[in-house]
Amino acid sequence: MGLFTRDIKTMDDLFLHVMQDIYYAEQKIHGALPDMIDKATNPELAAAFKAHRLETEMQIERLATAFEMLGENPKGASCPAIDGIIKEANEIAGEVADKNVLDAALIAAAQAVEHYEITRYGTLIAWAQQLGRRDIAQTLNVTLEEEKKTDKTLSTMAERKINLRAAS
Ligand code: FE
Ligand code: FE
Ligand code: FE
Repeated sequence: MGLFTRDIKTMDDLFLHVMQDIYYAEQKIHGALPDMIDKATNPELAAAFKAHRLETEMQIERLATAFEMLGENPKGASCPAIDGIIKEANEIAGEVADKNVLDAALIAAAQAVEHYEITRYGTLIAWAQQLGRRDIAQTLNVTLEEEKKTDKTLSTMAERKINLRAAS
């Protein structure tokens, strides 16, 4: 999908493009999580990352279902935003020596990922509704709720424990 080839002509094309963007992003996230699980010191944090990795597998499946509902084959389109978020996470993690501070950095990085996903799914759901695809909107909403819940869980963990330990 070249920027100057004007491949995106209609709202349906744009919708499909963002579906491909998040499909690529979910796969990248799935690939990045094992490293984050390894780096996490707090067992609760490691468990949360592990649980979300399993959830991410289901989300990839769910996206494949949404592609089918659209009559399209599941396909990814490169997403420089998620590549950048993951790259930044790895760079920061490589710079942090203290393991408690590293946990705080990992949470911050994971929340940047969740927020990217939340904007993408939020947009896709609004567009699906506009395009008369309530069925697809409902399917994607299951994932949106999981991303929001994950974001909340991470906030709670950071505020109750991780940040405290990192700062002491
Ligand atoms: Fe996800
Ligand atoms: Fe993107
Ligand atoms: Fe997520």
